[in-house]
Amino acid sequence: MLLYNSLTHSKDEFVPNTPGKVSMYTCGPTVYHFAHIGNLRTYMMEDVLEKYLAYSGYEVTRVMNITDVGHLSSDADTGEDKMLKGAKREKKTVMEIAKFYTDAFFADCEKLNIKIPEIIEPATGCIDEFIKVITELLKKDYAYIAGGNVYFDTSKLDEYYVFNKHEQENLAVGVRDGVEEDENKRNKCDFVLWFTKSKFDDQELKWDSPWGVGYPGWHIECSCISMKHLGESLDIHCGGIDNAFPHHTNEIAQSEAYIGHKWCNFWFHVLHLNTNSGKMSKSKGEFLTVSLLESKGYDPLAYRFFCMQSHYRKSLVFSYENLDNAAVAYNKLISKISAIKNEGEIEKEKFDSLKKGFTDALDNDLNTSLAVTALYDVLKADVNGATKLALIADFDQVLSLDLIKEEAVVEKTEEDERIEKLLSERAEAKKARDFARADEIRDMLTKEGIIIEDTPQGAKWRRA
Ligand code: AMP
Ligand code: ZN
Repeated sequence: MLLYNSLTHSKDEFVPNTPGKVSMYTCGPTVYHFAHIGNLRTYMMEDVLEKYLAYSGYEVTRVMNITDVGHLSSDADTGEDKMLKGAKREKKTVMEIAKFYTDAFFADCEKLNIKIPEIIEPATGCIDEFIKVITELLKKDYAYIAGGNVYFDTSKLDEYYVFNKHEQENLAVGVRDGVEEDENKRNKCDFVLWFTKSKFDDQELKWDSPWGVGYPGWHIECSCISMKHLGESLDIHCGGIDNAFPHHTNEIAQSEAYIGHKWCNFWFHVLHLNTNSGKMSKSKGEFLTVSLLESKGYDPLAYRFFCMQSHYRKSLVFSYENLDNAAVAYNKLISKISAIKNEGEIEKEKFDSLKKGFTDALDNDLNTSLAVTALYDVLKADVNGATKLALIADFDQVLSLDLIKEEAVVEKTEEDERIEKLLSERAEAKKARDFARADEIRDMLTKEGIIIEDTPQGAKWRRA
């Protein structure tokens, strides 16, 4: 499989460290608010990556953190803690906010058929690990204490800007408009590993540490949580493109300084979902969530289909018009599939050649848009129903669009059984030409609000 690697700026052959096994780390949500559908685009494409690796035969272990402390308003560790902001907004404790929005995130994932990684770790559960790694970084002279905080010293590295070698000045933290410079920093890109002093003294969650009572910086959590569960060599690290700098750049700096060798081979970044008016935001304009789409009558899977139709390395513009088009196409697709009759034996050769269209698309840097085309090719193909349905079910292991709807099994109530008994009595009466009794039953049920429709297959009924 070829996969674009932000580290090499090229599509590279994906080869894991251990044959047949993949370790995968995903930056999880900062649980101070609902996830917007842009965040969920990133999680959805990571989900496709995980599922496609598993589909290709790898045993994938995937870890995700939950950021419940340390992520400040600016990614460059200035401003107020996002969690604290959320708690103040809703007049709750930080832990109440974390629990509520973690559950809301999982509920959104479920609606979008995003598999929740088997290992989920909140940052507040790993304080001992953070302290261990920061202590070692200080010992190795990669970190220093200034103004009560512990900072990572980026000048100790041969190369700091690993992703964006040519745009150093644009990316430099501390020179962007609106970001205040921290005078304790020796170099403008140094970042906080542990805070004991910040402008915001009302930080709710604090822990004892060798450097005083305080709390961890945001970046250290992902390095530590990843190493705790996946060891010191990682195959793939994922996140949205905004995470590449400074978050992932800082993760690499501190992890490699700590372990003394290369840490992660592949960096998978998903481009943003934007609106016509620009970047999607939790604070500006309409806050686009899965629940909002549902309240407007959209099936969340129509949004998944919308995302599958574009490549993860292209930014995607959300508009209701675009979503409407995807929803219409999705519904048509489902109804075409439901009309396929499961007939014949699977035609092996045709199965393999149509499947190749799907795997070729995904083997080429996870091209889901062409994978969807491969799905339409199945519908158009000159092949029997059983083969088509087998291919669709096979592709859906990765696309997760619920392409084959199972007939809902509805439990009959006693009341339903009474109505059906009366309808079969009515049918018997008709057969015996006892129309008076047949009409009597009909009138009785009509009075109860039951609508009866006589069809060639017999009488059908529903409640008015
Ligand atoms: P957060 O909860 O803010 O830490 O973000 C969660 C994930 O969503 C991260 O991987 C971000 O990089 C990603 N992300 C943030 N904004 C967008 C967006 N507009 N489109 C796609 N992904 C995004
Ligand atoms: Zn992270």
